[in-house]
Amino acid sequence: MVKSVGVIGAGQMGNGISHVLALSGYDVILSDVDDKALENALSIIEKNMQRQITKELITAEEYKEAIARITTTKTLADLGNVDLAIEAATENEDVKKAIFKELSGVMKEDAIMATNTSSISVTRLASVTDRPEKFIGVHFMNPVPIMSLVELIRGIATSDETFKTVEAIVKKLGKESACSEDFPGFIVNRILMPMINEAVYTLYEGVGDVASIDMSMRLGANHPMGPLQLADFIGLDTCLAIMQVLYDGLADSKYRPCPLLVKYVEAGWLGRKTGKGFYDYSGDEPLPTR
Ligand code: NAD
Repeated sequence: MVKSVGVIGAGQMGNGISHVLALSGYDVILSDVDDKALENALSIIEKNMQRQITKELITAEEYKEAIARITTTKTLADLGNVDLAIEAATENEDVKKAIFKELSGVMKEDAIMATNTSSISVTRLASVTDRPEKFIGVHFMNPVPIMSLVELIRGIATSDETFKTVEAIVKKLGKESACSEDFPGFIVNRILMPMINEAVYTLYEGVGDVASIDMSMRLGANHPMGPLQLADFIGLDTCLAIMQVLYDGLADSKYRPCPLLVKYVEAGWLGRKTGKGFYDYSGDEPLPTR
């Protein structure tokens, strides 16, 4: 029975994951190497929950109880008593492996380890731990409190018991889970990223401009956001990194990252987070940069 959860990495995903866990009654220990990230995460969680009170999605009492369930630490040794650890640290294989190696010496024998990675092999991360059968990919979508899907990724050794335990937790969070085997990009990014990459090729080849491409997919395919607008939201560096994982991992030229996407990333035009990508965000309204 999972009651307490450690969340490693207090960035945009870690704070969202802690938010939904605490509201569903789990005790959360949020861990990061950076004091500032921990401070920021707590204030973002408070702000986002306050917004939910305003929208009458949660009560002031639920808010108070949820906030009281979250504690923070800079030391992984403090996760010795958690029943589950969800790693949401920087998307870097060495960083994640170091975390899981350390957790192996710290966590209770029967506790489960999970990673929120968007693209790194779950089987490879599991292989550095002392419990590959109790290791699973739990891929939340951004922003976590709003998006209802969680992809569950089985590593080659993941046991049915581990899968079922985590599936039940996702249900308790009020979310739906889709099951993906451990192949590059899993399901969502395997389909979404080539579409975004193709939108960038459409721009690169001059088939359409930014506004036309986004409008075509919003009004012509009923997508809530155009692909270029979505790419800016995700981060162009992240999109490129995931395309590279598909290209390397599946060894098929159809996943070749568009040279224009590479150029934007090299220019530091990473999308919303840097103020410029396919759109310029410096004014009141985003304006296409092409
Ligand atoms: P982020 O950069 O916002 O946060 C990462 C955090 O990890 C930072 O606060 C950093 O200080 C911390 N960190 C780095 N090394 C650490 C260590 N050794 N121990 C503890 N904390 C450490 O990143 P993010 O967008 O929250 O992404 C986190 C993970 O979630 C990545 O694996 C990413 O691929 C995945 N993910 C991201 C999205 C998205 O849309 N951003 C969606 C799904 C999954």
